[in-house]
Amino acid sequence: MKVYQQYINGEFRDAASREQFEVVNPFTEKVVAMAPKGGVEDAALALEAASSARKAWAAKPCAERAVFLKKMAEVIRGNREMLARTLAEEQAKVLPLAQVEIDATAEYFDYYAGWSRKYEGEVIQSDRPTENILLYRQPIGIVVGICPWNFPFFVMARKVAPSILTGCPIILKPSSDTPNTTFEFAKLIAGIGLPKGVLNFVSGGGSTLGDALVKSPEAGLITLTGSVETGQRIIAATAENITKTSLELGGKAPVIVCDDCDLDLTVKAVVASRVIFSGQVCNCAERVYVEESIYDEFMTRLTKAMAAVAYGDPFADPAPDMSSQINEAQMLKIEAMVKKAKVEGAEVLVGGGRGDDQPSGFFYKPTLLANCTQDMEIVRKEIFGPVLPVVKVSGFDEALNLANDCEYGLTSSIFTKNVTKMMRAINELEFGETYVNREHFEAIQGFHAGWRKSGIGGADGKHGLYEYLQTHVAYIQY
Ligand code: NAP
Repeated sequence: MKVYQQYINGEFRDAASREQFEVVNPFTEKVVAMAPKGGVEDAALALEAASSARKAWAAKPCAERAVFLKKMAEVIRGNREMLARTLAEEQAKVLPLAQVEIDATAEYFDYYAGWSRKYEGEVIQSDRPTENILLYRQPIGIVVGICPWNFPFFVMARKVAPSILTGCPIILKPSSDTPNTTFEFAKLIAGIGLPKGVLNFVSGGGSTLGDALVKSPEAGLITLTGSVETGQRIIAATAENITKTSLELGGKAPVIVCDDCDLDLTVKAVVASRVIFSGQVCNCAERVYVEESIYDEFMTRLTKAMAAVAYGDPFADPAPDMSSQINEAQMLKIEAMVKKAKVEGAEVLVGGGRGDDQPSGFFYKPTLLANCTQDMEIVRKEIFGPVLPVVKVSGFDEALNLANDCEYGLTSSIFTKNVTKMMRAINELEFGETYVNREHFEAIQGFHAGWRKSGIGGADGKHGLYEYLQTHVAYIQY
């Protein structure tokens, strides 16, 4: 079994308490690693290291900092299979998808390295004849990155890459469910020559270690990817120091299926979107609104496609479409939501229970629910599992209204060939992203940002980079 250590100030070390926690493979239900149970003392050590590194790191030319991102991409590519296996093992992600995540993470480091000679300040017109006004973009300071368990490696890069590039030391805490791939990465990058304290990886509970990091007056930016509830706790915890937060939170993505859509393409995209990583993806199809004139035909095809979804061992060859949920709590949550939906009148067309036919693991079957209505919990709250509730609507206007009637605002999609419906959806859907005739999955050069309770700020591309920079305006009179 692997035993990991934290990486603080360029050194590997146990938690100050010497305590550890178990990391469980959700498919086998066996312990696969022990990770350090860091706490308040570890937070203080990491903050001290980042603080010592801050000024010198910020002063380095950006192109020199970018070299480290290129090295990170290289070490990931050189170890891509080991990293994918570690990821698949700690979270029951099917191996091909784990490999996609590892490879996309290398791309991510390369992408941000490419920004090194590109981001700029501004020259602003002055009202005075002998004055120049210059707007600088400067590093925001120490970044505290808090990661979820669903894409632990990619989300790690989403926080580490822009921090390193912009000259901000970072302390990153993986989820206690999935620290392994991050700690394997720490071992790989320990030899690339990064100055001490610039990149620190700590592990431990969110309410202990995480809370201590978030509350620190030393932090310049807290970037969380996680649930709405954790986002709310972080907003409260950062209130005293008015620390900037960038919050990527939950979603409840609506899919609008119009009567003129390409049915084959739509069914394929909706099913893929719902079952990828066992439904545990923030931006994927969580509820479907179907125009009544094609409802029966669409449901016949969707039932067939959902029933054909294979689940099982994440390492099987050929790989199944999905595997276990991340842990028992997640499986029980999904089970309770489906039970409630049934009581409220939903009809189970496919699945509707645990995948008990597997030798082990926290499986919930791919599930299709018909007769759903807007007031049901399963249509209003994030499921984060392979369950698709479908609502029949009288027409396009009703679909738009119901899609917007939601506390979350991360992603949305529409399937149609009608340009008017397409353009109205883009103009009227109140979400950070809208996908037209395709699966829900963002690009690294886009901007992944949610409306309403789905978050504040965002990640990726130019706008994601700006989260790590603060402006400084100089008025120079001569
Ligand atoms: P979570 O329970 O909110 O945990 C996320 C992270 O926050 C974990 O590292 C957790 O630590 C830490 N944490 C918990 N309480 C904290 C506190 N008081 N202070 C500081 N840190 C704290 O979320 P999750 O279950 O891992 O992830 C699933 C959620 O993430 C879903 O809602 C999903 O939609 C969302 N998500 C959003 C995006 C996006 O881009 N918008 C992407 C991926 C996932 P421990 O768990 O180790 O205690």
